[in-house]
Amino acid sequence: MVMEINGRTGFFCLIGSPVGHSGSPAMYNYSFQKTEQDYVYLAFDVDLDKTEEAVSALKALGCKGVNVTMPCKTKVAELADELSDAAELIGACNTVVVKDGKLHGHNTDGIGFVRNLKEHGADVKDKVITVMGAGGAATAIQVQAALEGAKKIYIFNCKDKFYANAENTARKIENKVPGVTVEVYPLEDSQKLYEKIKESDILVNATKSGMKPAEDESLIKDVSVFQPDFVVADAVYNPRETKLIREAKAAGCKIALGGIGMLLWQGEAAFRIFTGESMPTEEVYERFFRG
Ligand code: NAD
Repeated sequence: MVMEINGRTGFFCLIGSPVGHSGSPAMYNYSFQKTEQDYVYLAFDVDLDKTEEAVSALKALGCKGVNVTMPCKTKVAELADELSDAAELIGACNTVVVKDGKLHGHNTDGIGFVRNLKEHGADVKDKVITVMGAGGAATAIQVQAALEGAKKIYIFNCKDKFYANAENTARKIENKVPGVTVEVYPLEDSQKLYEKIKESDILVNATKSGMKPAEDESLIKDVSVFQPDFVVADAVYNPRETKLIREAKAAGCKIALGGIGMLLWQGEAAFRIFTGESMPTEEVYERFFRG
């Protein structure tokens, strides 16, 4: 059944800048139609200095929920009335529900990452995980892995402007989540990197390495670390299969995943937070993500 927009149709939206390239409106509108829900989803280009004004306007207009992209994620976390544990630890929201005039902020990036692992038969609980990266995606993955019971997290990042963020995330996770240890090392220390990877069950790349136009790049030069039971996952989804994932598969890793599944499942998590229902992920994947 095709749902027609009417006087009672509820609306959700994406805010951030730029948003013109975003696949979110197509994905959510398709999912609302498939699940027969009387909602529409729009995208609004909002700069950082207009975030507060935009959020007030959306509240006044009765918007039911908002996805947030750069550069507004941190500001929206500051504006939220309540934050999920993940959003609080990350300090950024990508999903906000408006209920009784209050903003409930979430971050679904890490949820999407962990869910994608589970869909492929891997879990973070009681595992040792090495995550390369300290930006938005990496922080979300580190936080969610800790919240879902990871035993140890090793963070590696170049000594760039993100390094302090890794140290800050480690401190915040250890203060808030009992039973997990988080250690931070420079990515330039390749001896330490391989030593920690050998101790790990899961290796994650959440840096921009391997992302177009740097698709010939992988941070792992010594492919002997890739053993069959070792799980390798990339946040990068452009290209769909990075050099890291190609090499992990070639070396026999049974679970080696590109970032597209994380993207799909973070959208599904937001859809569930928005509507209380599951997104039709198989159809959404076929239609919008197969590439
Ligand atoms: P960011 O700008 O917040 O962080 C960038 C990170 O990459 C930092 O840790 C930085 O130190 C590191 N970095 C950059 N260039 C590097 C290089 N050449 N070598 C080593 N490290 C390098 O970016 P982000 O938003 O965290 O995105 C990182 C990647 O994850 C991007 O490819 C992005 O498209 C992807 N991503 C995927 C999803 C998903 O759902 N799959 C979600 C968010 C981001």
